[in-house]
Amino acid sequence: MVDSAAQLFPSESYLCARVNPEGTKNWNTSVEATQLAIENGVTVLAYPSFYGMDLMCDIHYLQKNKSGSWKAFIVKSSTKISDNSKENATFQLHTLREAGLKISHFYVLTINTKYNRSEKIDYHQLFKKTDVLPTLNKLENELKSTLKELRKTLKLETSPDLPIGEYCLSPYSCEFKSKCWKHVPENSVFNLRRVSRETKFKWWNSGVKTIDELKHSKFEAGSLLSETQAEEYVDHESLTEFMSHIQFPILFLDFEGYLPALPPFPGVKPFQIIPFLFAAYKCESIDGSLTFHSYIGTPKQDPRRQFADALIEICAASETILVYDPMTEKQVIRGLIREYPELANDLDSILNKIIDLAKPIANKHFYLPAMKGLSSMKHVLPAVDPTNSYKSLSVQSGRAASQLYQILCDDQHDKNEKLELDNLVEYCKMDVYGLVQVYNAFLKALDRPVISTN
Ligand code: SF4
Repeated sequence: MVDSAAQLFPSESYLCARVNPEGTKNWNTSVEATQLAIENGVTVLAYPSFYGMDLMCDIHYLQKNKSGSWKAFIVKSSTKISDNSKENATFQLHTLREAGLKISHFYVLTINTKYNRSEKIDYHQLFKKTDVLPTLNKLENELKSTLKELRKTLKLETSPDLPIGEYCLSPYSCEFKSKCWKHVPENSVFNLRRVSRETKFKWWNSGVKTIDELKHSKFEAGSLLSETQAEEYVDHESLTEFMSHIQFPILFLDFEGYLPALPPFPGVKPFQIIPFLFAAYKCESIDGSLTFHSYIGTPKQDPRRQFADALIEICAASETILVYDPMTEKQVIRGLIREYPELANDLDSILNKIIDLAKPIANKHFYLPAMKGLSSMKHVLPAVDPTNSYKSLSVQSGRAASQLYQILCDDQHDKNEKLELDNLVEYCKMDVYGLVQVYNAFLKALDRPVISTN
């Protein structure tokens, strides 16, 4: 997104960043290149770097005004300006001022999600420009007193004796965590899920360090502990009722999509989900075999119409479509209906056949201790089938799949496209295999025959 924002400036920007041979930023040469560019009268600087007193910063863009002052720009691939962004920007503003620059405006560029791309991208519509200088001016005083404290700390002979706290984790995980958190035991209260950090530190600071200690403490954490340590549990009646809605032929289905900030095709909005891959196992009957099907787009091409056509074809003969937590799948199909109204009947029929296979787990009608209180497929698959996990795969999460596909859509990538597309299909295949295994686990729990996966 930062590179795209260069389109907002009337003249070409001069790239000031310099890198070391191993690819890391070389601050000295970057600062020198920035100074030289300013001396040579360059008016739009990309990634300029500055030293100001004992501080250093870089910024996405600077544009010189006729008066000699500068407009500063930072680009966010988000729709809102977070408090953290404002704090970072305050540091940049302060360093720029310490370096001798007069700043007339400090803009944060965020993404305008209402923008709908036409044939070409209109960058002035895509980015929303907010001048945060008045806010940063107020925050700068606070920053000055923080810097005073930090400078004092730097002069100390030994590191300050501070306990671990929420500041170790937020807004970023501290680089020194491996040193300062050495004394945190393996079964510490920090391992508990679905508990706020504030609560965990309250327990920790009161001396309750481990999950075992928590069990015998005054704190009421019973339901959390039972969730993480529960025995295998099956609510036969509820699970039987759920299974009664599932009819053969069954299709086990999973989608992958990506949400680019920069709309890649006409008619697409920023962060609109673009489906590029589905995997499916089809099973005609309980004693039938599984057949695998998939569709994956061709990077850089709009995959949506082919995806929709392939999906309709594969779903046509199925009575039930089993999806694990189908929020994304439903969102994608509704998007396809909006895009291709002529396919509405077929796509609506798919929506009507979808059953959420995660429901019995989410509703606690089926539980295995190996799920460790978690219900995502990444935790449920190894629990129902310990011989399989995502660890053996090159792509191990939906986020990684989406990032990889976006890389393949980039002209500059140096990946083996065929191999990586295969890796993506393998990842999605594991997700649908997990669906089959979860369905089989439900059948086993009800003492029914299962689908053969051999
Ligand atoms: S991990 Fe970082 S934030 Fe936490 S105590 Fe150590 S240095 Fe401080």
